[in-house]
Amino acid sequence: MTKETITTGFASLGLNEKLLNVLTALGYEEPTPVQSAAIPPLLEKRDVLAQAATGTGKTAAFALPIIHRIALLPAGRTSPAALILVPTRELAMQVADATHRYGKELGIRVLPVYGGASMDTQLRALKRGVDVVVATPGRALDHINRKTLKLEDILTVVLDEADEMLDMGFAEDLEAILRDAPAGRQTALFSATLPPRISKIAASHLKNPVPVSIAREGASAGSMPKIRQTAFVVPRAHKLPALSRILDMEAPTAALVFCRTRNEVDELTETLNGRGHRAEAIHGGMSQEQRDRVMKKFRAGTAELLIATDVAARGLDIKHLSHVFNYDVPSSPEVYVHRIGRTGRAGREGIAITLAEPREHWQLKNIEKLTKQKISTATVPTVADLKARRLDITRASLREALIEGGLEHFRVVVDSLAEEFDPMEIAAAAVKLLHAESGGAASEEKDIPTIRIAPPAPFRAMGQIPSNRPRPFNPSGPPTRERERPTGPPPPRDGNVVRIFVGAGRDGNVRPGDLVGAITNEAGIDPRLIGAIQIADRFSLVELPDGIADRVVKALRGATIRGNKVLVRRDRDA
Ligand code: AMP
Repeated sequence: MTKETITTGFASLGLNEKLLNVLTALGYEEPTPVQSAAIPPLLEKRDVLAQAATGTGKTAAFALPIIHRIALLPAGRTSPAALILVPTRELAMQVADATHRYGKELGIRVLPVYGGASMDTQLRALKRGVDVVVATPGRALDHINRKTLKLEDILTVVLDEADEMLDMGFAEDLEAILRDAPAGRQTALFSATLPPRISKIAASHLKNPVPVSIAREGASAGSMPKIRQTAFVVPRAHKLPALSRILDMEAPTAALVFCRTRNEVDELTETLNGRGHRAEAIHGGMSQEQRDRVMKKFRAGTAELLIATDVAARGLDIKHLSHVFNYDVPSSPEVYVHRIGRTGRAGREGIAITLAEPREHWQLKNIEKLTKQKISTATVPTVADLKARRLDITRASLREALIEGGLEHFRVVVDSLAEEFDPMEIAAAAVKLLHAESGGAASEEKDIPTIRIAPPAPFRAMGQIPSNRPRPFNPSGPPTRERERPTGPPPPRDGNVVRIFVGAGRDGNVRPGDLVGAITNEAGIDPRLIGAIQIADRFSLVELPDGIADRVVKALRGATIRGNKVLVRRDRDA
Protein backbone atom coordinates (compact mmCIF):
# COMPACT_ATOMS: atom_id res chain seq x y z
CA MET A 1 0.00 0.00 0.00
CA THR A 2 2.87 2.36 0.76
CA LYS A 3 4.34 1.97 -2.72
CA GLU A 4 0.91 2.46 -4.22
CA THR A 5 0.38 5.75 -2.40
CA ILE A 6 3.74 7.06 -3.44
CA THR A 7 3.18 6.50 -7.14
CA THR A 8 -0.48 7.32 -7.41
CA GLY A 9 -1.13 9.92 -4.67
CA PHE A 10 -1.01 13.10 -6.72
CA ALA A 11 -1.41 11.35 -10.08
CA SER A 12 -4.83 10.04 -9.09
CA LEU A 13 -6.05 13.62 -8.70
CA GLY A 14 -5.67 14.18 -12.44
CA LEU A 15 -2.82 16.67 -12.45
CA ASN A 16 -0.53 17.41 -15.40
CA GLU A 17 2.47 15.07 -15.72
CA LYS A 18 4.98 17.93 -15.53
CA LEU A 19 3.38 19.15 -12.32
CA LEU A 20 3.74 15.67 -10.86
CA ASN A 21 7.46 15.74 -11.65
CA VAL A 22 7.81 19.09 -9.91
CA LEU A 23 6.08 17.73 -6.80
CA THR A 24 8.39 14.72 -6.75
CA ALA A 25 11.41 17.00 -7.03
CA LEU A 26 10.10 19.04 -4.09
CA GLY A 27 9.89 15.86 -2.03
CA TYR A 28 6.09 15.85 -1.72
CA GLU A 29 5.06 12.21 -1.32
CA GLU A 30 1.29 12.44 -1.21
CA PRO A 31 -1.45 15.05 -1.21
CA THR A 32 -2.49 16.52 2.12
CA PRO A 33 -6.19 16.07 3.08
CA VAL A 34 -7.16 19.54 1.89
CA GLN A 35 -5.39 18.90 -1.42
CA SER A 36 -7.14 15.55 -1.94
CA ALA A 37 -10.48 17.20 -1.25
CA ALA A 38 -10.06 20.48 -3.15
CA ILE A 39 -7.96 19.67 -6.22
CA PRO A 40 -10.44 17.39 -8.08
CA PRO A 41 -13.42 19.81 -7.91
CA LEU A 42 -11.15 22.75 -8.79
CA LEU A 43 -9.89 20.86 -11.86
CA GLU A 44 -13.55 20.32 -12.79
CA LYS A 45 -14.00 24.09 -12.69
CA ARG A 46 -16.27 23.90 -9.65
CA ASP A 47 -16.29 26.58 -6.94
CA VAL A 48 -14.86 25.54 -3.57
CA LEU A 49 -15.48 26.78 -0.03
CA ALA A 50 -12.66 25.44 2.11
CA GLN A 51 -11.98 25.69 5.79
CA ALA A 52 -8.23 25.33 5.99
CA ALA A 53 -5.53 27.18 7.88
CA THR A 54 -1.86 27.71 7.14
CA GLY A 55 0.07 24.49 7.39
CA THR A 56 -2.58 22.33 5.75
CA GLY A 57 -1.05 22.61 2.29
CA LYS A 58 -3.80 24.98 1.15
CA THR A 59 -1.57 27.02 -1.17
CA ALA A 60 -0.83 24.01 -3.35
CA ALA A 61 -4.50 23.01 -3.11
CA PHE A 62 -5.51 26.07 -5.11
CA ALA A 63 -2.27 26.82 -6.99
CA LEU A 64 -1.84 23.37 -8.62
CA PRO A 65 -5.28 23.33 -10.33
CA ILE A 66 -4.75 26.93 -11.45
CA ILE A 67 -1.43 25.98 -13.04
CA HIS A 68 -2.90 22.84 -14.56
CA ARG A 69 -5.69 24.83 -16.19
CA ILE A 70 -3.40 27.62 -17.43
CA ALA A 71 -1.11 25.05 -19.06
CA LEU A 72 -4.03 24.05 -21.30
CA LEU A 73 -4.49 27.60 -22.60
CA PRO A 74 -2.91 28.86 -25.85
CA ALA A 75 0.41 30.68 -25.44
CA GLY A 76 0.96 34.38 -26.04
CA ARG A 77 -1.81 35.71 -23.81
CA THR A 78 -1.13 38.89 -21.85
CA SER A 79 -4.12 39.20 -19.46
CA PRO A 80 -3.94 37.14 -16.29
CA ALA A 81 -5.97 33.95 -16.02
CA ALA A 82 -5.99 33.77 -12.23
CA LEU A 83 -6.21 36.29 -9.41
CA ILE A 84 -5.28 35.20 -5.90
CA LEU A 85 -6.24 37.69 -3.18
CA VAL A 86 -4.42 37.54 0.14
CA PRO A 87 -4.51 39.72 3.28
CA THR A 88 -0.87 40.76 3.61
CA ARG A 89 2.21 41.64 1.67
CA GLU A 90 4.14 38.77 3.30
CA LEU A 91 1.52 36.29 2.22
CA ALA A 92 1.45 37.75 -1.30
CA MET A 93 5.18 37.14 -1.60
CA GLN A 94 4.92 33.69 -0.06
CA VAL A 95 2.02 32.52 -2.24
CA ALA A 96 3.58 34.03 -5.38
CA ASP A 97 6.82 32.28 -4.56
CA ALA A 98 5.12 28.91 -4.05
CA THR A 99 3.05 29.29 -7.24
CA HIS A 100 6.16 30.23 -9.17
CA ARG A 101 7.97 27.17 -7.83
CA TYR A 102 5.10 24.83 -8.76
CA GLY A 103 4.61 26.39 -12.22
CA LYS A 104 8.17 27.09 -13.35
CA GLU A 105 8.48 23.95 -15.50
CA LEU A 106 5.27 24.89 -17.29
CA GLY A 107 6.41 28.45 -17.91
CA ILE A 108 3.76 30.01 -15.66
CA ARG A 109 4.36 33.73 -15.07
CA VAL A 110 3.45 34.89 -11.56
CA LEU A 111 3.39 38.45 -10.24
CA PRO A 112 2.97 39.52 -6.60
CA VAL A 113 1.17 42.87 -6.32
CA TYR A 114 1.01 44.67 -3.00
CA GLY A 115 1.03 48.13 -1.52
CA GLY A 116 4.36 49.67 -0.68
CA ALA A 117 6.14 48.10 -3.67
CA SER A 118 7.10 50.09 -6.75
CA MET A 119 4.06 50.73 -8.93
CA ASP A 120 6.30 51.09 -12.00
CA THR A 121 7.77 47.61 -11.69
CA GLN A 122 4.29 46.13 -11.28
CA LEU A 123 3.00 48.10 -14.27
CA ARG A 124 5.83 46.94 -16.52
CA ALA A 125 5.32 43.31 -15.54
CA LEU A 126 1.55 43.52 -16.05
CA LYS A 127 2.12 45.02 -19.49
CA ARG A 128 4.55 42.28 -20.50
CA GLY A 129 1.93 39.74 -19.53
CA VAL A 130 1.41 37.48 -16.52
CA ASP A 131 -0.66 34.37 -15.89
CA VAL A 132 -1.26 34.58 -12.15
CA VAL A 133 -1.54 37.75 -10.06
CA VAL A 134 -1.20 37.34 -6.30
CA ALA A 135 -2.41 40.56 -4.72
CA THR A 136 -3.56 42.32 -1.59
CA PRO A 137 -7.12 43.63 -2.19
CA GLY A 138 -6.31 47.35 -1.93
CA ARG A 139 -3.51 47.33 -4.48
CA ALA A 140 -5.44 44.95 -6.77
CA LEU A 141 -8.38 47.37 -6.83
CA ASP A 142 -6.03 50.26 -7.49
CA HIS A 143 -4.72 48.51 -10.62
CA ILE A 144 -8.22 47.46 -11.70
CA ASN A 145 -9.42 51.08 -11.49
CA ARG A 146 -6.43 52.28 -13.51
CA LYS A 147 -7.19 49.54 -16.02
CA THR A 148 -3.68 48.21 -15.62
CA LEU A 149 -5.04 44.93 -14.24
CA LYS A 150 -7.56 43.46 -16.63
CA LEU A 151 -9.98 40.88 -15.31
CA GLU A 152 -11.73 39.90 -18.55
CA ASP A 153 -9.72 36.68 -19.05
CA ILE A 154 -9.76 35.61 -15.41
CA LEU A 155 -10.74 31.95 -15.07
CA THR A 156 -10.21 31.62 -11.32
CA VAL A 157 -10.38 33.99 -8.35
CA VAL A 158 -9.03 32.72 -5.04
CA LEU A 159 -9.75 34.39 -1.71
CA ASP A 160 -6.98 33.13 0.55
CA GLU A 161 -7.26 33.61 4.32
CA ALA A 162 -10.61 35.26 3.71
CA ASP A 163 -11.34 35.74 7.43
CA GLU A 164 -8.10 37.69 7.81
CA MET A 165 -8.97 39.88 4.83
CA LEU A 166 -12.31 40.75 6.43
CA ASP A 167 -10.65 41.38 9.81
CA MET A 168 -8.34 43.81 8.09
CA GLY A 169 -11.21 45.80 6.64
CA PHE A 170 -11.00 44.62 3.03
CA ALA A 171 -14.70 43.63 2.76
CA GLU A 172 -15.65 46.47 0.38
CA ASP A 173 -12.58 46.03 -1.79
CA LEU A 174 -13.33 42.31 -2.10
CA GLU A 175 -16.94 43.02 -3.06
CA ALA A 176 -15.80 45.48 -5.75
CA ILE A 177 -13.23 43.08 -7.20
CA LEU A 178 -15.63 40.13 -7.25
CA ARG A 179 -18.30 42.29 -8.93
CA ASP A 180 -15.79 43.23 -11.63
CA ALA A 181 -14.55 39.70 -12.32
CA PRO A 182 -16.23 37.78 -15.19
CA ALA A 183 -19.48 36.09 -14.16
CA GLY A 184 -18.43 32.73 -15.57
CA ARG A 185 -15.23 32.51 -13.51
CA GLN A 186 -14.44 29.92 -10.90
CA THR A 187 -14.16 31.13 -7.28
CA ALA A 188 -12.36 29.38 -4.43
CA LEU A 189 -12.56 30.68 -0.89
CA PHE A 190 -10.08 29.45 1.72
CA SER A 191 -10.42 30.51 5.35
CA ALA A 192 -9.22 29.27 8.73
CA THR A 193 -12.63 30.04 10.22
CA LEU A 194 -16.08 30.29 8.68
CA PRO A 195 -17.94 33.00 10.63
CA PRO A 196 -21.28 34.35 9.27
CA ARG A 197 -19.54 37.16 7.38
CA ILE A 198 -17.63 34.60 5.34
CA SER A 199 -20.76 32.57 4.69
CA LYS A 200 -22.40 35.77 3.41
CA ILE A 201 -19.63 36.43 0.91
CA ALA A 202 -19.73 32.77 -0.13
CA ALA A 203 -23.51 32.90 -0.59
CA SER A 204 -23.36 35.93 -2.88
CA HIS A 205 -20.19 35.19 -4.86
CA LEU A 206 -19.72 31.40 -5.02
CA LYS A 207 -21.84 29.17 -7.21
CA ASN A 208 -22.93 25.91 -5.62
CA PRO A 209 -19.51 25.51 -3.96
CA VAL A 210 -18.06 22.16 -2.97
CA PRO A 211 -17.49 22.34 0.79
CA VAL A 212 -14.06 21.25 1.95
CA SER A 213 -13.20 20.91 5.59
CA ILE A 214 -10.21 19.18 7.02
CA ALA A 215 -11.64 19.50 10.50
CA ARG A 216 -14.00 16.59 9.98
CA GLU A 217 -15.80 15.10 12.92
CA GLY A 218 -14.73 11.58 13.59
CA ALA A 219 -11.08 12.21 14.23
CA SER A 220 -12.02 12.06 17.87
CA ALA A 221 -9.44 10.49 20.03
CA GLY A 222 -11.68 8.43 22.23
CA SER A 223 -9.31 5.51 22.03
CA MET A 224 -6.18 7.61 22.16
CA PRO A 225 -3.65 6.38 24.67
CA LYS A 226 -2.31 8.61 27.42
CA ILE A 227 0.01 11.02 25.73
CA ARG A 228 1.62 14.17 27.06
CA GLN A 229 1.18 16.69 24.28
CA THR A 230 3.24 19.84 24.03
CA ALA A 231 3.70 22.46 21.34
CA PHE A 232 6.57 24.90 20.95
CA VAL A 233 5.77 27.98 18.92
CA VAL A 234 8.96 28.91 17.14
CA PRO A 235 9.68 31.25 14.22
CA ARG A 236 10.62 29.29 11.11
CA ALA A 237 14.25 30.40 11.07
CA HIS A 238 14.80 29.00 14.57
CA LYS A 239 13.08 25.65 14.17
CA LEU A 240 16.15 23.53 13.62
CA PRO A 241 18.15 24.78 16.61
CA ALA A 242 14.96 24.66 18.67
CA LEU A 243 14.36 21.00 17.81
CA SER A 244 17.95 20.16 18.57
CA ARG A 245 17.70 21.82 21.96
CA ILE A 246 14.38 20.15 22.80
CA LEU A 247 15.96 16.81 21.88
CA ASP A 248 18.83 17.57 24.26
CA MET A 249 16.39 18.23 27.08
CA GLU A 250 14.06 15.33 26.40
CA ALA A 251 16.84 12.85 25.68
CA PRO A 252 14.49 10.41 23.89
CA THR A 253 15.51 6.77 23.78
CA ALA A 254 13.61 5.98 20.61
CA ALA A 255 11.76 8.69 18.75
CA LEU A 256 10.08 9.29 15.43
CA VAL A 257 10.45 12.79 13.99
CA PHE A 258 7.89 13.58 11.30
CA CYS A 259 8.60 15.96 8.43
CA ARG A 260 6.47 17.06 5.51
CA THR A 261 8.79 16.31 2.61
CA ARG A 262 11.62 13.99 1.61
CA ASN A 263 13.89 16.96 1.20
CA GLU A 264 13.12 18.08 4.74
CA VAL A 265 13.84 14.58 6.04
CA ASP A 266 17.27 14.56 4.42
CA GLU A 267 18.14 18.06 5.58
CA LEU A 268 17.04 17.44 9.15
CA THR A 269 18.87 14.12 9.40
CA GLU A 270 22.10 15.66 8.21
CA THR A 271 21.89 18.65 10.54
CA LEU A 272 20.90 16.65 13.62
CA ASN A 273 23.73 14.20 13.07
CA GLY A 274 26.07 17.17 12.76
CA ARG A 275 24.89 18.28 16.19
CA GLY A 276 25.69 15.00 17.83
CA HIS A 277 22.32 13.22 17.63
CA ARG A 278 22.07 9.76 16.17
CA ALA A 279 19.47 10.14 13.45
CA GLU A 280 18.49 8.03 10.45
CA ALA A 281 16.35 9.13 7.50
CA ILE A 282 13.49 7.09 6.17
CA HIS A 283 11.27 8.20 3.29
CA GLY A 284 9.32 6.95 0.32
CA GLY A 285 12.22 7.41 -2.07
CA MET A 286 14.28 4.65 -0.43
CA SER A 287 14.47 1.03 -1.52
CA GLN A 288 13.13 -1.70 0.75
CA GLU A 289 16.67 -2.81 1.43
CA GLN A 290 17.74 0.66 2.57
CA ARG A 291 14.70 0.90 4.79
CA ASP A 292 15.38 -2.48 6.36
CA ARG A 293 18.93 -1.45 7.13
CA VAL A 294 17.75 1.73 8.85
CA MET A 295 15.13 -0.13 10.86
CA LYS A 296 17.71 -2.62 12.03
CA LYS A 297 19.88 0.17 13.40
CA PHE A 298 16.91 1.77 15.10
CA ARG A 299 15.75 -1.45 16.73
CA ALA A 300 19.27 -2.20 17.90
CA GLY A 301 19.45 1.27 19.47
CA THR A 302 22.37 2.41 17.29
CA ALA A 303 20.10 5.20 16.11
CA GLU A 304 17.78 6.93 18.53
CA LEU A 305 15.93 9.13 16.05
CA LEU A 306 14.08 8.13 12.94
CA ILE A 307 13.34 11.08 10.69
CA ALA A 308 10.41 10.17 8.47
CA THR A 309 7.62 11.32 6.20
CA ASP A 310 4.08 10.07 6.85
CA VAL A 311 4.23 7.77 3.85
CA ALA A 312 7.44 6.12 4.99
CA ALA A 313 6.29 5.75 8.59
CA ARG A 314 3.03 4.12 7.59
CA GLY A 315 4.49 0.72 6.95
CA LEU A 316 6.79 0.69 9.97
CA ASP A 317 6.21 -1.66 12.81
CA ILE A 318 7.88 0.04 15.75
CA LYS A 319 7.04 -0.57 19.34
CA HIS A 320 8.02 1.39 22.41
CA LEU A 321 8.59 4.83 21.00
CA SER A 322 9.39 7.20 23.84
CA HIS A 323 8.53 10.28 21.78
CA VAL A 324 6.89 11.43 18.60
CA PHE A 325 8.04 14.79 17.28
CA ASN A 326 6.20 16.80 14.65
CA TYR A 327 8.71 19.09 12.99
CA ASP A 328 5.72 20.88 11.44
CA VAL A 329 2.10 20.95 12.48
CA PRO A 330 0.56 17.98 10.62
CA SER A 331 -1.69 18.83 7.69
CA SER A 332 -4.88 17.69 9.47
CA PRO A 333 -6.08 16.61 12.91
CA GLU A 334 -6.42 13.06 11.58
CA VAL A 335 -2.78 12.96 10.57
CA TYR A 336 -1.84 14.34 14.00
CA VAL A 337 -3.83 11.69 15.85
CA HIS A 338 -2.40 8.97 13.66
CA ARG A 339 1.18 10.13 14.19
CA ILE A 340 1.11 10.60 17.94
CA GLY A 341 -0.78 7.34 18.48
CA ARG A 342 2.55 5.65 17.83
CA THR A 343 3.90 6.65 21.20
CA GLY A 344 2.45 5.72 24.57
CA ARG A 345 1.56 2.18 23.67
CA ALA A 346 1.41 -0.75 26.05
CA GLY A 347 0.25 1.32 29.01
CA ARG A 348 3.24 3.68 29.03
CA GLU A 349 2.84 7.43 28.94
CA GLY A 350 3.84 8.72 25.53
CA ILE A 351 5.21 12.11 24.70
CA ALA A 352 4.21 14.05 21.60
CA ILE A 353 6.01 17.28 20.80
CA THR A 354 5.01 19.61 17.99
CA LEU A 355 6.88 22.58 16.56
CA ALA A 356 4.55 25.21 15.21
CA GLU A 357 5.21 28.45 13.41
CA PRO A 358 3.27 31.40 14.81
CA ARG A 359 0.87 31.41 11.86
CA GLU A 360 0.06 27.74 12.37
CA HIS A 361 -1.61 28.13 15.76
CA TRP A 362 -5.05 27.73 14.17
CA GLN A 363 -4.10 24.22 13.30
CA LEU A 364 -3.26 23.48 16.92
CA LYS A 365 -6.65 24.85 17.97
CA ASN A 366 -8.40 22.64 15.40
CA ILE A 367 -6.55 19.61 16.68
CA GLU A 368 -7.45 20.38 20.30
CA LYS A 369 -11.08 20.84 19.34
CA LEU A 370 -11.25 17.54 17.54
CA THR A 371 -9.28 15.40 19.90
CA LYS A 372 -10.81 17.09 22.94
CA GLN A 373 -7.37 16.98 24.46
CA LYS A 374 -5.17 19.82 25.55
CA ILE A 375 -1.89 20.58 23.84
CA SER A 376 0.08 22.67 26.28
CA THR A 377 2.41 25.30 24.89
CA ALA A 378 5.92 25.52 26.23
CA THR A 379 8.94 27.69 25.72
CA VAL A 380 12.07 26.38 24.05
CA PRO A 381 14.68 25.48 26.66
CA THR A 382 16.99 28.39 27.34
CA VAL A 383 20.75 28.22 27.56
CA ALA A 384 20.30 28.19 31.36
CA ASP A 385 17.98 25.17 31.08
CA LEU A 386 20.50 23.30 29.02
CA LYS A 387 23.30 24.07 31.44
CA ALA A 388 21.18 22.87 34.33
CA ARG A 389 20.25 19.75 32.41
CA ARG A 390 23.88 18.96 31.61
CA LEU A 391 24.86 19.41 35.23
CA ASP A 392 22.05 17.02 36.10
CA ILE A 393 23.52 14.45 33.75
CA THR A 394 27.00 14.89 35.21
CA ARG A 395 25.57 14.58 38.71
CA ALA A 396 23.73 11.38 37.75
CA SER A 397 26.92 9.88 36.29
CA LEU A 398 28.80 10.65 39.50
CA ARG A 399 26.04 9.11 41.56
CA GLU A 400 26.24 5.94 39.51
CA ALA A 401 30.01 5.80 39.95
CA LEU A 402 29.62 6.27 43.72
CA ILE A 403 27.06 3.50 43.98
CA GLU A 404 29.12 1.20 41.81
CA GLY A 405 32.13 1.66 44.09
CA GLY A 406 35.61 0.36 43.23
CA LEU A 407 37.12 3.77 44.01
CA GLU A 408 40.06 2.64 46.18
CA HIS A 409 42.48 3.12 43.37
CA PHE A 410 41.47 6.79 43.08
CA ARG A 411 41.35 7.57 46.79
CA VAL A 412 45.14 7.70 46.70
CA VAL A 413 44.94 10.68 44.37
CA VAL A 414 42.44 12.43 46.63
CA ASP A 415 44.55 11.65 49.70
CA SER A 416 47.66 13.16 48.23
CA LEU A 417 45.82 16.29 47.06
CA ALA A 418 44.08 16.63 50.43
CA GLU A 419 47.38 17.56 52.02
CA GLU A 420 47.26 20.75 50.00
CA PHE A 421 43.53 21.37 49.23
CA ASP A 422 40.13 21.16 50.82
CA PRO A 423 38.41 17.81 49.85
CA MET A 424 35.30 19.70 48.73
CA GLU A 425 37.42 21.72 46.30
CA ILE A 426 39.09 18.54 45.02
CA ALA A 427 35.71 16.98 44.37
CA ALA A 428 34.50 20.14 42.59
CA ALA A 429 37.58 20.11 40.34
CA ALA A 430 36.95 16.47 39.46
CA VAL A 431 33.33 17.29 38.61
CA LYS A 432 34.52 20.15 36.43
CA LEU A 433 36.81 17.86 34.47
CA LEU A 434 34.14 15.20 34.04
CA HIS A 435 31.62 17.82 32.98
CA ALA A 436 33.96 19.23 30.33
CA GLU A 437 34.89 15.75 29.13
CA SER A 438 31.25 14.75 28.59
CA GLY A 439 30.58 17.87 26.51
CA GLY A 440 28.58 19.51 29.29
CA ALA A 441 30.60 22.67 29.26
CA ALA A 442 30.13 23.25 25.53
CA SER A 443 29.33 26.88 24.87
CA GLU A 444 25.81 27.26 23.54
CA GLU A 445 24.37 29.58 20.96
CA LYS A 446 22.10 32.42 21.89
CA ASP A 447 18.63 31.93 23.34
CA ILE A 448 15.92 31.26 20.81
CA PRO A 449 13.10 33.82 20.75
CA THR A 450 9.84 32.19 21.67
CA ILE A 451 6.35 33.29 20.89
CA ARG A 452 3.42 32.42 23.02
CA ILE A 453 0.03 32.20 21.41
CA ALA A 454 -2.75 33.46 23.63
CA PRO A 455 -6.28 32.13 23.09
CA PRO A 456 -7.59 33.76 19.90
CA ALA A 457 -11.24 34.19 20.83
CA PRO A 458 -11.20 37.48 22.80
CA PHE A 459 -9.10 39.19 20.18
CA ARG A 460 -11.18 37.89 17.33
CA ALA A 461 -14.28 39.25 19.00
CA MET A 462 -12.63 42.66 19.20
CA GLY A 463 -11.46 42.26 15.62
CA GLN A 464 -9.18 45.27 15.61
CA ILE A 465 -5.53 44.49 15.25
CA PRO A 466 -4.41 42.65 12.16
CA SER A 467 -2.56 39.57 13.22
CA ASN A 468 0.49 40.20 11.09
CA ARG A 469 1.38 43.40 12.85
CA PRO A 470 4.06 42.89 15.49
CA ARG A 471 2.92 43.75 18.95
CA PRO A 472 5.03 44.71 21.91
CA PHE A 473 5.50 42.30 24.76
CA ASN A 474 3.03 43.33 27.40
CA PRO A 475 2.64 40.83 30.17
CA SER A 476 -0.18 42.64 31.92
CA GLY A 477 -1.92 43.99 28.82
CA PRO A 478 -5.07 42.77 27.11
CA PRO A 479 -5.04 39.38 25.43
CA THR A 480 -3.43 39.41 22.02
CA ARG A 481 -3.19 36.59 19.53
CA GLU A 482 0.54 36.41 19.34
CA ARG A 483 2.69 37.62 22.10
CA GLU A 484 6.29 38.08 21.15
CA ARG A 485 9.01 37.76 23.71
CA PRO A 486 11.59 40.49 23.40
CA THR A 487 14.76 39.61 21.60
CA GLY A 488 16.70 42.78 22.43
CA PRO A 489 19.09 43.28 25.33
CA PRO A 490 17.97 41.61 28.55
CA PRO A 491 16.13 43.76 31.07
CA PRO A 492 18.29 44.91 33.99
CA ARG A 493 18.25 42.58 36.97
CA ASP A 494 18.22 45.32 39.57
CA GLY A 495 18.40 44.74 43.29
CA ASN A 496 18.85 41.59 45.30
CA VAL A 497 18.49 38.13 43.96
CA VAL A 498 16.30 35.81 46.01
CA ARG A 499 15.29 32.18 45.66
CA ILE A 500 11.84 30.75 45.51
CA PHE A 501 11.06 27.25 46.66
CA VAL A 502 8.85 25.07 44.42
CA GLY A 503 7.62 21.87 46.03
CA ALA A 504 8.25 19.56 43.08
CA GLY A 505 11.48 18.16 41.75
CA ARG A 506 13.13 15.34 39.93
CA ASP A 507 10.86 12.73 41.47
CA GLY A 508 7.94 14.50 39.84
CA ASN A 509 9.78 14.64 36.49
CA VAL A 510 10.17 18.40 36.80
CA ARG A 511 12.73 19.87 34.44
CA PRO A 512 14.08 23.42 34.18
CA GLY A 513 11.94 24.00 31.11
CA ASP A 514 8.79 23.30 33.12
CA LEU A 515 9.72 25.91 35.71
CA VAL A 516 10.74 28.49 33.13
CA GLY A 517 7.54 27.79 31.19
CA ALA A 518 5.34 28.08 34.27
CA ILE A 519 7.00 31.29 35.44
CA THR A 520 6.94 33.02 32.05
CA ASN A 521 3.43 31.92 31.19
CA GLU A 522 1.72 32.33 34.55
CA ALA A 523 3.45 35.44 35.81
CA GLY A 524 4.26 36.99 32.43
CA ILE A 525 7.91 37.31 33.38
CA ASP A 526 10.65 37.80 30.80
CA PRO A 527 12.53 34.47 30.84
CA ARG A 528 15.82 36.29 30.92
CA LEU A 529 15.08 37.56 34.42
CA ILE A 530 15.17 34.00 35.70
CA GLY A 531 18.47 33.09 37.27
CA ALA A 532 19.92 29.73 38.26
CA ILE A 533 17.57 26.80 38.66
CA GLN A 534 18.39 23.92 40.94
CA ILE A 535 16.32 20.78 40.85
CA ALA A 536 16.50 18.40 43.79
CA ASP A 537 14.60 15.15 44.12
CA ARG A 538 11.60 16.59 45.92
CA PHE A 539 11.82 20.34 45.34
CA SER A 540 13.36 22.99 43.12
CA LEU A 541 14.90 26.39 43.75
CA VAL A 542 14.71 29.26 41.29
CA GLU A 543 16.67 32.48 41.52
CA LEU A 544 14.75 35.67 40.75
CA PRO A 545 15.19 39.41 41.25
CA ASP A 546 13.66 40.33 44.61
CA GLY A 547 11.31 42.82 42.99
CA ILE A 548 9.34 40.17 41.08
CA ALA A 549 9.58 37.20 43.45
CA ASP A 550 6.26 37.85 45.21
CA ARG A 551 4.47 38.22 41.90
CA VAL A 552 5.86 34.90 40.70
CA VAL A 553 4.99 33.15 43.97
CA LYS A 554 1.43 34.43 43.74
CA ALA A 555 1.03 33.46 40.10
CA LEU A 556 2.47 29.97 40.60
CA ARG A 557 0.19 29.22 43.54
CA GLY A 558 -2.75 28.89 41.22
CA ALA A 559 -0.78 27.03 38.57
CA THR A 560 0.12 23.41 37.98
CA ILE A 561 3.56 22.08 37.22
CA ARG A 562 3.66 18.78 35.39
CA GLY A 563 -0.04 18.49 36.06
CA ASN A 564 0.23 18.94 39.84
CA LYS A 565 -0.53 21.83 42.12
CA VAL A 566 2.59 22.53 44.15
CA LEU A 567 3.70 24.48 47.18
CA VAL A 568 5.46 27.70 46.18
CA ARG A 569 7.07 30.16 48.59
CA ARG A 570 10.12 32.29 49.08
CA ASP A 571 13.02 30.10 50.10
CA ARG A 572 13.73 30.51 53.82
CA ASP A 573 17.45 30.09 53.39
CA ALA A 574 17.69 32.82 50.77
P1 AMP B 1 0.52 25.93 3.33
O1 AMP B 1 -0.56 25.37 4.20
O2 AMP B 1 0.05 26.16 1.94
O3 AMP B 1 1.12 27.17 3.94
O4 AMP B 1 1.68 24.84 3.21
C1 AMP B 1 2.43 24.45 4.30
C2 AMP B 1 3.71 23.75 3.90
O5 AMP B 1 3.44 22.44 3.46
C3 AMP B 1 4.51 24.41 2.81
O6 AMP B 1 5.84 24.48 3.26
C4 AMP B 1 4.41 23.47 1.63
O7 AMP B 1 5.60 23.47 0.88
C5 AMP B 1 4.19 22.13 2.29
N1 AMP B 1 3.36 21.20 1.53
C6 AMP B 1 2.23 21.49 0.83
N2 AMP B 1 1.73 20.36 0.29
C7 AMP B 1 2.53 19.33 0.66
C8 AMP B 1 2.52 17.92 0.41
N3 AMP B 1 1.57 17.34 -0.31
N4 AMP B 1 3.51 17.18 0.95
C9 AMP B 1 4.48 17.78 1.69
N5 AMP B 1 4.54 19.08 1.95
C10 AMP B 1 3.58 19.87 1.44
